[in-house]
Amino acid sequence: MKTSTCTPALCALFVLAWSHAAASDDQARVEELIRGVEPKVIAWRRDIHEHPELSNREVRTAKLVAEHLKKLGLQVRTGIAHTGVTAFLQGGRPGPVVALRADMDALPVTEKTDVPFRSRATGTYRGETVGVMHACGHDVHTSVLMGVAEVLTSMRESLPGGVLFIFQPAEEGPPDGEEGGAELMLKEGVFETHTPQAVFGLHAWSPLRVGEIGLRRGPLMAASDAFRIEVLGRQSHGSRPWQGVDPILAAAQIVTALQGIVSRQVDLTAYPAVVSIGAIKGGIRHNIIPDRVEMIGTIRTFDSAQRERIFTRMRVLVEQTAKANGATATFTVDEGGNPVTYNDPALTDRMLPTLEKVPGVREVRFIPLVTGAEDFSFYAQKVPGMYLFVGVTPPDQDPANAPGNHSDYFYVDERAIPIAIRVMTQLAVDFLRQ
Ligand SMILES: [Zn+2]
Ligand SMILES: [Zn+2]
Repeated sequence: MKTSTCTPALCALFVLAWSHAAASDDQARVEELIRGVEPKVIAWRRDIHEHPELSNREVRTAKLVAEHLKKLGLQVRTGIAHTGVTAFLQGGRPGPVVALRADMDALPVTEKTDVPFRSRATGTYRGETVGVMHACGHDVHTSVLMGVAEVLTSMRESLPGGVLFIFQPAEEGPPDGEEGGAELMLKEGVFETHTPQAVFGLHAWSPLRVGEIGLRRGPLMAASDAFRIEVLGRQSHGSRPWQGVDPILAAAQIVTALQGIVSRQVDLTAYPAVVSIGAIKGGIRHNIIPDRVEMIGTIRTFDSAQRERIFTRMRVLVEQTAKANGATATFTVDEGGNPVTYNDPALTDRMLPTLEKVPGVREVRFIPLVTGAEDFSFYAQKVPGMYLFVGVTPPDQDPANAPGNHSDYFYVDERAIPIAIRVMTQLAVDFLRQ
């Protein structure tokens, strides 16, 4: 029976053309929504930049975020991990859940840029009054995700599944004696009510220019662990060292010997590693050999087995070097280290075409390993994650000379902001629809 003049081949072509037209209509709608929120995102970013808050103290920022999300009609939770905020957007059709994460905290840095909205804020850090600045671009992350929440909410009917928005405090690390950040957000159940199938996050990144995106498959950023070494000797007069045990000499030998861990005891063809001593404290006077030296430092690794091996080797080396000097020493790794930030290879492969099609993105680049750390890693330990860097250095500037993240001159070219909004929006939409 013949019911149509359309041959199968022609029909297929017709359906393809129709779905193509629908997709580009849809794309045009996303683009229109994004253009609509851009000025608001820039205004939020400048406001947050001018009013930065230290880790676990993001009260004003969290309030701004929560009020916006409530206005959108989302299910909002506040006060998670001190000042954290989450919101859930239920799409109009069944489907998976995707989490999008931003961090809200600033740093104890006195801003030296001359932007009109520069920070003059101060805060208390380790008992001292300090300048506070969004020197790591978390003002961008927060405002961008507020904008993305608005765009996706406008599209809710056509979205399958749901989106979990995470605004997290204390990425830079909580104040001494407090817990905080991603680890505490998870402990307080951020993934429990709506468990995502994937989590995405981005960072404003000075080593890349506006229009450049950087990422890797697998390990991207290092695990970071702070350690403490205590060397105990026996105090004596500086003129009669044989009457005591000199912990300063033992400490000096430990510092030198520790450099042999990475150069001699780690398979550097697999992954690099870093062991650095950041502070040494011992003694008070030129002619007293003290009884104690304390050292602190950091370890950066990209593989959990290598991480454990370095801990073990350091402990042996510290204890035995002290012993060889007649002293004793303890080696402790602090709680609260960050795991490796690991980009799920399958998820990364799947989302690469999305990144490449984002308007404004000139280049998606696989970058070298980053020895800095990110507590996004905790989310990506629970569910497949992908983290990426969005270039913020002006296109005509050499990033090698641009002030880096954490610098008092750290600068974000705001042309990066619309790109970041598009990246986050498109990652969520494509993940949910594929
Ligand atoms: Zn930072
Ligand atoms: Zn940061």
